[in-house]
Amino acid sequence: MHLINADLHCHSNVSDGTLTPEAVAERAAANGVALWSLTDHDEVGGQHRAHAAAARLGMSYLPGAEISVTFAGKTVHIVGLGFDPDDPQLLQGLADTRNGRERRARDIAAELAKVGIPDAFEGALKFVGNPDLISRTHFARHIVEIGVCADPHEVFKRYLAEGKPGFVPHSWARLSDAVRWITEAGGVAVIAHPGRYDFTPNEEFALFSEFKAHGGRGVEVVTGSHTVAEYARYADMAIEFDLLASRGSDFHDPSESHTDLGSLPDLPGKVTPVWAVLQDRILQP
Ligand code: AMP
Ligand code: MN
Ligand code: MN
Ligand code: MN
Repeated sequence: MHLINADLHCHSNVSDGTLTPEAVAERAAANGVALWSLTDHDEVGGQHRAHAAAARLGMSYLPGAEISVTFAGKTVHIVGLGFDPDDPQLLQGLADTRNGRERRARDIAAELAKVGIPDAFEGALKFVGNPDLISRTHFARHIVEIGVCADPHEVFKRYLAEGKPGFVPHSWARLSDAVRWITEAGGVAVIAHPGRYDFTPNEEFALFSEFKAHGGRGVEVVTGSHTVAEYARYADMAIEFDLLASRGSDFHDPSESHTDLGSLPDLPGKVTPVWAVLQDRILQP
């Protein structure tokens, strides 16, 4: 059960990845992924294409999405797995979550103009595959292209991360709503990359406790966003909070992503993989 090569977190150009859903599927299959989920940000527009490609390539598939949530004043990501991608409440919730992105992007561009980077909205748009889903990643690619920074990571560090001149606070979905949309659509909610949030121990405890209380069931343990020490730390947290464990690369692009599809270590033996409870939701090839 642990030794399935599952990759349950990655992005296509339906959100802020650069490859089409079909090309992500091909890369996953080439890397030996046996159970795959495409988890675009706040969007399920790529799900039917991803499932069709997975079936063609012989991979088992779980519908997926990564929902942006505001918790304790910070952005937290919740991955949903195994839901019905046509569920009306989920579709409406995701549409509402995406809604403010264009306004926010115009505000980001205005802030960037004040620090000497003009026309960034138009610049970012050149990289956008889905006009409903303009993201900071698209700004980062533009700012690299015009030569201001060497790579997207540097753009986040200098301009786009919280506290930097191009950061615009935004109010995303509520934790309780995101978990409910996923759960009532038949899926399982998972806390994405908990090691990435700058929470105090108290805030992190509150996140895990409230997530559980709302019906959340899993946590990413082995992800491209975690260090090896964090694999161990969040395996312990999974056990402490009686949560299932997930595994996913968070792949966005062949040159930007430091972790390729299907290339992470296996989950630690002591945790229960999230796919153990999703057997009847897995779409077989
Ligand atoms: P947004 O949803 O528009 O706030 O954009 C969030 C996305 O930005 C994340 O999903 C990542 O793909 C990307 N991102 C966030 N922080 C960084 C970073 N430090 N370096 C590179 N990409 C990042
Ligand atoms: Mn992203
Ligand atoms: Mn994320
Ligand atoms: Mn992601």
